[in-house]
Amino acid sequence: MEGDIVSSLRDIIAPERMFVEEPMKKHTTFRVGGNADLLIRPASVAEIEKGIQCCQELAVPYYIIGNGSNLLVGDGGIRGVVIQIGSDFSKIEVGDDDTVWVQAGCMLSKAAHVAMEHGLSGMEFASGIPGTIGGAVVMNAGAYEGEMKDIIDCVTLLSHDGEVLILPQDQMEFGYRESIVSKQNYIVLEVKLKLHKGKPEAIAEKMKELNDARQKKQPLEFPSAGSTFKRPEGYFAGKLIMDTGLAGYRIGDAQVSEKHCGFVINRGKATAREIVTLMNEITKRVEEKFQVVLEPEVRKMGDFSESRKKETLPEQAE
Ligand SMILES: Cc1cc2nc3c(=O)[nH]c(=O)nc-3n(C[C@H](O)[C@H](O)[C@H](O)COP(=O)(O)OP(=O)(O)OC[C@H]3O[C@@H](n4cnc5c(N)ncnc54)[C@H](O)[C@@H]3O)c2cc1C
Repeated sequence: MEGDIVSSLRDIIAPERMFVEEPMKKHTTFRVGGNADLLIRPASVAEIEKGIQCCQELAVPYYIIGNGSNLLVGDGGIRGVVIQIGSDFSKIEVGDDDTVWVQAGCMLSKAAHVAMEHGLSGMEFASGIPGTIGGAVVMNAGAYEGEMKDIIDCVTLLSHDGEVLILPQDQMEFGYRESIVSKQNYIVLEVKLKLHKGKPEAIAEKMKELNDARQKKQPLEFPSAGSTFKRPEGYFAGKLIMDTGLAGYRIGDAQVSEKHCGFVINRGKATAREIVTLMNEITKRVEEKFQVVLEPEVRKMGDFSESRKKETLPEQAE
């Protein structure tokens, strides 16, 4: 990687928040992915803005990640700069009108916990989703009849030409596991949640009940990126995969979970190639048997070619 970008970013980002040749398996819940040329963790809006400007000026590609819980990074890693919006950018401020301002890098579990402590209900459904609030807005993450779109008042975004804008919920184009963010290449900076009053004990009990259900049904003992495929209209991906006879089906260390067939899990040393091959095989067999085409929910990022090539790859696949 060009030394230029590293030295330019050193003027903006503290050395302890810059990582050269960083293994992406450390930053994805799948525990898969080759090295990123450089990973940075900005701690303020100004650092995010300047970091992006720097990449643009030097024509270096950059990619935004949160907790990496919906990502499959290629074995060849990522050419360019990964900007991780995580715990260094995760302040929470509770308003006096049932609203909560949360910076994009805050984990959903933490935001849900703070809301509970302030007697604010509405985030219970999201408390067990292992991602950041920024990633959850991008994905319109949802579970147990709730979706991010139900609790968002407005979102502060950074456009790629450096403009900061605040979009109200009805302009966020929320759909099933999608929003305007990826379509416009925005970066989520902050989210204003609109919750409602509730009793902390009742909120805590609901969160426990939903998290117990996750423990029971999902293979949380293995690395994964959650549901590998989106729910096709009128079906459940996990049931289709199970009824195709693929429970436990394995390619290398990538396996269809026997506990929940909607999850591809990493049994230990799975490669991105093994996971992609398994996903393709699942898609093919389910289509042959049920004429239903499964669409990935997991997003691919980086280099999926056989050998690591020092070249810029297309934008992440959606
Ligand atoms: C065990 C397990 C269970 C899960 N259960 C659920 C579930 O019940 N419901 C559900 O919806 N999902 C679930 N997921 C998937 C995942 O947790 C969610 O999609 C989560 O919202 C992703 O957040 P993240 O911070 O990890 O985002 P990442 O995976 O890091 O990124 C996801 C996408 O968002 C983009 N992105 C991230 N942050 C920003 C930002 N600040 N600005 C702009 N773009 C950004 C990335 O470029 C990428 O395109 C599960 C995953 C696991 C591992």
